[in-house]
Amino acid sequence: MPTPIAQTDLESYLDEGLPIEEMARIERALRDDGGLQKQLAAINARRDAGVHSLGEVWRRHRLSCPTREHLGSFLLGVLDKDLTLYMQVHLDVMGCRTCQANFNDLKSRQAEEPSTSEARRKKYFQSSAGHLRRG
Ligand SMILES: [Zn+2]
Repeated sequence: MPTPIAQTDLESYLDEGLPIEEMARIERALRDDGGLQKQLAAINARRDAGVHSLGEVWRRHRLSCPTREHLGSFLLGVLDKDLTLYMQVHLDVMGCRTCQANFNDLKSRQAEEPSTSEARRKKYFQSSAGHLRRG
């Protein structure tokens, strides 16, 4: 069972003070949990009156942008489920222009250099396999 999300987690989420994996976990929970959305909106309303919807919360408190490396992994489809969802929300729901531009740039590079991306994909799989063995 996943760790429940506490009020302090939501506060940190609004402050963008969490690691990307944790941001993604809370983001996923928010999408499924209307109560949590209300809780987040209430926290934010206390902080800053005039914010009405979760969409606005997201836009105003622009979630931390993923690194270019994360974008690259997303493009290759090698991220875990939570991070994949985080990227989808960041790119499609929030529509972060900066990351969309980065993502499109990576995409066009990948199209130009299929052999390079294939090598990178292998590298990612090998490193994650190695990680699993150590754990
Ligand atoms: Zn971004």
